[in-house]
Amino acid sequence: LGKQSLNNHYEHIIIGAGIVGSGIFRDLSLHGEDCLLVDRGDFNSQTSQSSSKMLHGGIRYLENFDFALVREALHEKKTWTKLAPHLTKEEMFIIPVYKESKWPLFFVRIGLFLYDLLSGFKNPRFKTLSKKKVLKLLPELKSHELKGAGMYSDAIVEDSKLGLECIYDALNEKCHALNYTQLIQVDKKNNYELTLFNVLKNEKFKITCNNVIFSLGPFTDQVLNQLNIPWENVIIPSKGSHIWLKQDALQIESPMVLQTSDQRIIFVIPQRNAILIGTTEIALDENEEMFNIQCSEKEIEYILNNINEYFPKAKITKNHIIRTFAGIRPLVKDGNKDRAKVSRSHKIFTPQKNMYVVCGGKYTTFRIMAQDVIKKIFKDSSKNYNKKLSLTPLRKRSKFAFESKNVTEEDIKTIIDNEMPQTVDDILYRRLSLINEEALDVSKDKIQNLLKSIE
Ligand SMILES: Cc1cc2nc3c(=O)[nH]c(=O)nc-3n(C[C@H](O)[C@H](O)[C@H](O)COP(=O)(O)OP(=O)(O)OC[C@H]3O[C@@H](n4cnc5c(N)ncnc54)[C@H](O)[C@@H]3O)c2cc1C
Repeated sequence: LGKQSLNNHYEHIIIGAGIVGSGIFRDLSLHGEDCLLVDRGDFNSQTSQSSSKMLHGGIRYLENFDFALVREALHEKKTWTKLAPHLTKEEMFIIPVYKESKWPLFFVRIGLFLYDLLSGFKNPRFKTLSKKKVLKLLPELKSHELKGAGMYSDAIVEDSKLGLECIYDALNEKCHALNYTQLIQVDKKNNYELTLFNVLKNEKFKITCNNVIFSLGPFTDQVLNQLNIPWENVIIPSKGSHIWLKQDALQIESPMVLQTSDQRIIFVIPQRNAILIGTTEIALDENEEMFNIQCSEKEIEYILNNINEYFPKAKITKNHIIRTFAGIRPLVKDGNKDRAKVSRSHKIFTPQKNMYVVCGGKYTTFRIMAQDVIKKIFKDSSKNYNKKLSLTPLRKRSKFAFESKNVTEEDIKTIIDNEMPQTVDDILYRRLSLINEEALDVSKDKIQNLLKSIE
């Protein structure tokens, strides 16, 4: 997959290979178009590997009456569990309810019924659990004033892997993809001339195209301003962080939704020999670097305080944390001042002829975002769009989805040959999705040498 000979000109160039750019790339490839996908870092290394790793309708958006979005997202969740069964898993989530909870039990019951209804009853049906049953499932959970729980279905996903596999699936003699390639200049001549910069080799080169598609997620305003494209800022950057806890930190087998004292929710999701907990939701500090953003001490404290509130006996401390990660929600301004209430639907802009900007949305709805932008491009060039093509099942191209088996030198060689990694971290955190490096039978130096040997 790594051996591509680039063209001087493409019909489409997609800037930004998060899940949205990867989805657009795949759909264009399925339509037989020629295109190039580029990303400044590794593919799917920013927001799209920093999500809560759920394909979901968004139980919380019911509160905002965003029923159309929930319905669409639940449909997409189901679709991807069929198109990529090796990268997704449906699970029953538990919402414990206390006397003082913002959502009382009758409200949870109505909400979960609505959720199942919006899924067209394709979700496994919701349940309510008595206090006794909840404590049987979660023996360490705080029992004082516990009223019971709701239990409903959503899916978990290998987030960076799904994006990577969309890219691998799309590569062919007409469709190419480059990681570590930053767009640094756009010139409008007869068509667009893009100056690209290989950040690892420190080399500039130029390629032309008819259509430029920006799928830059939270980086949209920053990049379009830097490139001097006529643009009014649309993004409200909203930071969210997670922690991975050691598996033995909590006795928990099902994922949970916890209502926090500041009227939010956080997810606790056991997976791959660890427990994922998050997220926070805070404004970005003015001068905070957005690329490769990190989780702060204050956020760790917030997450630990909330989890200890529900599991006081577990006494979770920083020593139980394996790793932390952070991302920025690419929320698009809609007049709402409260970040939690800003709609998660996506928007498409055309700041110049043959230039398309797509942002907002959710990981779960990336296929629809790709469809909408391509429909627009095809309409502008009088081509027919076939909405069925993106329903083609994903060809499984990578190893180690949801796996925690030990990783050997042979595995690393296969990944280097087939999955376009450029750095050790690309292999560890996206191709292998490692949470804990203990599963690695090969040293990082050895991996670095293997990478060098193919240069
Ligand atoms: C904390 C958190 C939890 C979330 N949880 C969920 C969830 O559970 N489920 C869900 O459905 N959604 C979730 N979301 C939302 C979801 O993660 C995002 O909507 C989605 O990942 C955005 O994808 P994207 O492709 O638009 O952006 P990104 O993944 O950020 O991709 C944009 C890309 O543009 C690249 N780029 C930037 N500048 C340049 C340049 N000059 N040249 C080339 N490339 C460039 C970046 O390197 C980046 O890879 C969550 C978001 C956050 C922050």
